[in-house]
Amino acid sequence: MANAVVVLNAGSSSIKFSLFVEQGKTLEPRIRGQVEGLYTGARFVAKAVDGEVKAETSWPAGVKMGHAGALDHLIEYLRSELKRDRLIGIGHRVVHGGSVYTQPVRVDSEVLKALEIFVPLAPLHQPHNLAPIRRALERVPELPQVACFDTSFHRTQPEVAQLFALPFDLWKAGVKRYGFHGLSYQFIASELPEVAPAAAMGKTIVLHLGNGASMCAMEAGRSIASTMGFTAVEGLPMGTRCGSLDPGVILYLIDQLGMTTREVEKLIYNRSGLLGVSGISSDMRTLLASDDPQAGMAIDLFVYRAGREIGSLTAALGGLDAVVFTAGIGQNSPIVRSRICHSAAWLGLEIDETANNANRTCISTPSSPVSVWVIPTDEEIIIARHTRQLIQSSKEMKK
Ligand code: ADP
Repeated sequence: MANAVVVLNAGSSSIKFSLFVEQGKTLEPRIRGQVEGLYTGARFVAKAVDGEVKAETSWPAGVKMGHAGALDHLIEYLRSELKRDRLIGIGHRVVHGGSVYTQPVRVDSEVLKALEIFVPLAPLHQPHNLAPIRRALERVPELPQVACFDTSFHRTQPEVAQLFALPFDLWKAGVKRYGFHGLSYQFIASELPEVAPAAAMGKTIVLHLGNGASMCAMEAGRSIASTMGFTAVEGLPMGTRCGSLDPGVILYLIDQLGMTTREVEKLIYNRSGLLGVSGISSDMRTLLASDDPQAGMAIDLFVYRAGREIGSLTAALGGLDAVVFTAGIGQNSPIVRSRICHSAAWLGLEIDETANNANRTCISTPSSPVSVWVIPTDEEIIIARHTRQLIQSSKEMKK
């Protein structure tokens, strides 16, 4: 009988899950899947790592299963799937841990209450992240739950990197630059000693370029600056989020164009970025395949802002040894990587186009002063490792 850990990533309309099973000292992924359409018509699918469909269920349109119903279904499925193995805990991706949670934490009803305080800081994500935790505390209170935060990795940043130039009372009230995608950066930091030992010890910029996109400056594997701030909308232009914006634009939209705060929220989170500029799609593949000039403009802006941020984060680091690309665009798009590297060539990035086009791990030339890497991210395994570690160490303490 082996121990198993399930990792949940709950969004507004779906819960994604990954099941990991212990094999010796490591955790191996066994099944991934999701329940989607939580508030329309729900559909559940579970697939083995080789893609084989293990289970599939659809509910009629109009059945609002919700996060609670989805959690119940998942627990039932996992129990039937794990006949010979033992589920020892649930690990959750939680976007906001505020300044308090610098590490993953075991969740009980008190901790859940503390995490609810951060809902106003991430209203589009935090309530959905917490919903399955609340349900599991009711349904399976004996099963340990661990929350892992997207903000924690950035708590090593110097105070000045987290500060807005606002009255200091607001800093005390929690208005600061938190940074996100921390679980992805932690995974990259955990891989670097194996893959690129010099980058692990040195000054490295990681570009997490997915639907959400951000960059992190790391020194010896610790975050010292990032492009995302108070919310996950700052920094680079993203699939549908605008990235950094003059706050005066927001005032103009409200005062002169009569937009409500909800309309502005929709605009900056859902209608901007690649989608907004191109007017075509938020999907980089679609834009790369299009010959519409607006698609070209959206890609140009994405590349331009990423290049500028490499300069800015290099300044924060006081030098640069390595650059790492990760997430959907970073892992899969040679053309976007090549263009970003060319825009930062003045810093000493020399890309080997053959290696880049083949999506190799190292894509810089041997003589490049700054080495360039492509490393697929895996936020789920980081959550699974933390969950197992925390559960096992609390067992040790009880002995
Ligand atoms: P999320 O932030 O939702 O996890 P992903 O990391 O999956 O997003 O990244 C999604 C983005 O990656 C989309 O813009 C998609 O077009 C892009 N992408 C995936 N594969 C490729 C590819 N081969 N070339 C260019 N872009 C790609």
